[in-house]
Amino acid sequence: MNKQEAIDVLQERGYKMTKRRMDILDFFFREDKYYTAKDLYEFMESIYPGISFDTVYRNLHLYHDVGILESTDLQAEKHFRMNCGDHHHHHFICKACGKTEKLHICPMQEAEVLLRHFQIDGHKFEVYGLCPACQAAS
Ligand SMILES: [Zn+2]
Ligand SMILES: [Zn+2]
Ligand SMILES: [Zn+2]
Repeated sequence: MNKQEAIDVLQERGYKMTKRRMDILDFFFREDKYYTAKDLYEFMESIYPGISFDTVYRNLHLYHDVGILESTDLQAEKHFRMNCGDHHHHHFICKACGKTEKLHICPMQEAEVLLRHFQIDGHKFEVYGLCPACQAAS
């Protein structure tokens, strides 16, 4: 999803594009990586001193609910990134910096054979480790 598509999704649902909502989009579209609610809050606080965590959190969840953001649990904390799903793929996620890399393979082809007597509704597959930059830094 690109920034314009994200704006369309919000406007189709009747949400006005305020500067604050644009700033949140800008934050997530900077890089292919996962961020925590706290990361977003710190960014927003630097632009809008004194903004409440609730306001930021509400918008974060709105973006997640309408499908602009996807989420995953890393180190027992929820992380968010822009939804990059147009076609099916999975992610490598750097556990140090949150950067992601697309993986254009899916283990389901093999799993479906093993589970042929079961009805499958969905799946999740993520690979964790250190990206090249974080390996160099450690
Ligand atoms: Zn992706
Ligand atoms: Zn990294
Ligand atoms: Zn898959």
